[in-house]
Amino acid sequence: MKNNIKDSKIDISSLSLSELREFVIELSLKLGIKIEKFRAEQIYKWLISGVSEFDEMKNVPLNIRTALKENCYIALPAVEKKFVSKLDGTIKYLFRLYDGECIESVFMRYEHGNTVCISTQAGCRMGCRFCASTISGFSRNLTPSEILGQIVAVSRDTGEKISNVVLMGIGEPLDNFENVLKFLELVNAPEGMNIGYRHISLSTCGIVPNILKLSEKQLPITLSISLHSTTQEERERLMPIAKKYSLKELISACRKYIDNGGRRISFEYAMIENENDSKEDAERLASLLSGMLCHVNLIPLNTVSGRDYRKSGRDAIKRFMNVLESKGIIVTVRRRLGSDIDASCGQLRASKISEN
Ligand code: SAH
Repeated sequence: MKNNIKDSKIDISSLSLSELREFVIELSLKLGIKIEKFRAEQIYKWLISGVSEFDEMKNVPLNIRTALKENCYIALPAVEKKFVSKLDGTIKYLFRLYDGECIESVFMRYEHGNTVCISTQAGCRMGCRFCASTISGFSRNLTPSEILGQIVAVSRDTGEKISNVVLMGIGEPLDNFENVLKFLELVNAPEGMNIGYRHISLSTCGIVPNILKLSEKQLPITLSISLHSTTQEERERLMPIAKKYSLKELISACRKYIDNGGRRISFEYAMIENENDSKEDAERLASLLSGMLCHVNLIPLNTVSGRDYRKSGRDAIKRFMNVLESKGIIVTVRRRLGSDIDASCGQLRASKISEN
């Protein structure tokens, strides 16, 4: 179901409040109709509340709604499927976008607040060997409104306040850099979702030039690096991006990020049996990160159908942790939420594509 008419219309939820104010003035001049200044705030509030049709904006007069309908569209992702975990209340969403593309988001309840894990691209072109998001290839970047819309739609569906956001769903955020930056501005806006930068984590497989560009922005978000390997050869085998930007360049960019005032970096390390979980790997990891303001998050690998990697056993994870801790590195092991609904991203989109 491709639909290109949207291309000639304005993607209204990608506008900040001040951009929307300007747009409303332009629209009123263009159409010769009176649109009072305060209408921009009203429209903005409706968009943030998760309406998908202009006619739901009940306090906006009909002639303005008609003008909006003719000139704009609302890019709110629609719930295509939804899975609720019986174990911990985690909810996994398969969202459909205006052109039929599907993406995934996950709602998780933590003690420190409700968290939504969002996608930044429809598919992924990074090709990590162990990851489900890459299996059905890359379709397109998400717009700022489609990235924001996942949070708006989850908040509307659950009726709950969202306090944390992680950019760890489908796609590589730093491969959609400009739209992700605009999204960060939108989600942080006090008049909008008002989610503080300190409550946002962005995860990257290591697009070095954009890590450096992000560093210049000096946003107090948490940067997560999907490291997963401690040698150049092994990282190239698991993550093709390493052929473009070496492990050495990546670690040096991370050190620059911290030196430039960035907050503590979180290194993600998926534990894969007999691949990257030896005592030597742990020792190499400790020396790579030595002296850096960081912490390591160990993730027991999630099995992905069609991929033959297996997760490390408990003993191997414990041994790995002990080595890191003995070298003074802070380590956590990721708790797996929603294990009964296979909450990690990528698999639903892949199975939806193979259905069609
Ligand atoms: N492209 C970004 C965002 C994806 S975040 C990135 O690479 O960081 C998703 C996180 O889950 C990344 O750390 C990714 O490497 C990790 N991941 C992917 N597949 C996994 C799997 N099968 N088991 C455990 N972690 C996985």
